[in-house]
Amino acid sequence: MSVYLDYNASAPIDLRVLETMVEVYKNNIGNADSRTHSFGENARAVVEHARRQVAHLFGVSTSEVYFTSGATESNNIAIQGLREYGEKSKKRHIITTAIEHKAVLETVKYMAYQGYEVEIIAPDLSGRVNENAILNKVRDDTLLVSVMHVNNETGIIQPVKELGEELYRRDVFFHVDATQSSGKLVEEIRGFKYNILSFSAHKLMGPQGVGGLILRTKSYKRPPIKAIIFGGEQEGGIRPGTIPVALTAGCGKACEIAENEYKENNIHVRAIREQIIAELNNSGIDYHINGDQEYCIGNTLNVCLAGVSSEALMILTKQYCGLSNGSACTSKIYSPSYVLAAMGVSMAQIDNSIRISWGPDTQADHVIENFRNFLKIAKGIRS
Ligand code: PMP
Repeated sequence: MSVYLDYNASAPIDLRVLETMVEVYKNNIGNADSRTHSFGENARAVVEHARRQVAHLFGVSTSEVYFTSGATESNNIAIQGLREYGEKSKKRHIITTAIEHKAVLETVKYMAYQGYEVEIIAPDLSGRVNENAILNKVRDDTLLVSVMHVNNETGIIQPVKELGEELYRRDVFFHVDATQSSGKLVEEIRGFKYNILSFSAHKLMGPQGVGGLILRTKSYKRPPIKAIIFGGEQEGGIRPGTIPVALTAGCGKACEIAENEYKENNIHVRAIREQIIAELNNSGIDYHINGDQEYCIGNTLNVCLAGVSSEALMILTKQYCGLSNGSACTSKIYSPSYVLAAMGVSMAQIDNSIRISWGPDTQADHVIENFRNFLKIAKGIRS
């Protein structure tokens, strides 16, 4: 059977998470915001338990956790939600990077239509954005700096720790899209300073369709984020709409499992990485790994196989491996990776690059067997 190697697009749900959710679906009917009966109270208890699990993983207080439908929504709220404050304070300057997920890039583009000045900083070939290139752009009227923790295509860790340290002292909001690092770089996330953080449960083996926004309080105040859709007071008024009780329970459970198991998971995914690299070394194919591997997260490899068209390869190897050559959110039609392009990777190399990503439940022997066959085909179609 084909091996799934596209965890950065979506990781499979952990069966313990699924069981938790099935129990909630069976036993906790009702709306967590209904106050007139015990069904509502019980549903609320489930949601608040999940909030504690999320808060515990991230090392924040429960009052700082807001459930959303996932990182796309969280990123939108983080950025668009500051609009009113930006108008009032006359801070209309936003800084972000060229390798952010589209949920950030498209949202800042929208802010630019609304009259904001947006500066987009490119990384270098290492896949990292230089923190000083960002800090040098910060001005008195800078409202927000938005930088992802780990890039979804390359796995390269960005200098959010260094940025957080500096930005904390300045009057600028710092948003981190931690979708690819949540539940993995647990201590790192607990250790750096930020005001706003986004994550999605399905990237840490929770359910799709739920995630969160963490709004850190500073001097007892939460960032002045306003709702971007209207119709209810749920989630502190920031995210109106009925809370999906079972999904939040699944999100909480996934966070609890990640917290208990991330250390061994990180060792496991690193061991698989070594085996994948060994297979590449033995394949007889000329290859290189995109991005500075000193800064790469354990579960991702973005590999350029010289002379091998990634599009042709993926079509010919579906029976062995499910992987990708870019973000799933932009993959309906092939267009060269904007992340690799921003790094300065040549078009020919981009066309030859694939993204491999795996997770805690990936079985090494299953990967090796299929990846070996995958590489045999790759070798055969080299131009
Ligand atoms: N940010 C990053 C870095 C991501 O990798 C993704 C998912 N590919 C998102 C945001 C969006 O997450 P979701 O699709 O769950 O809303």
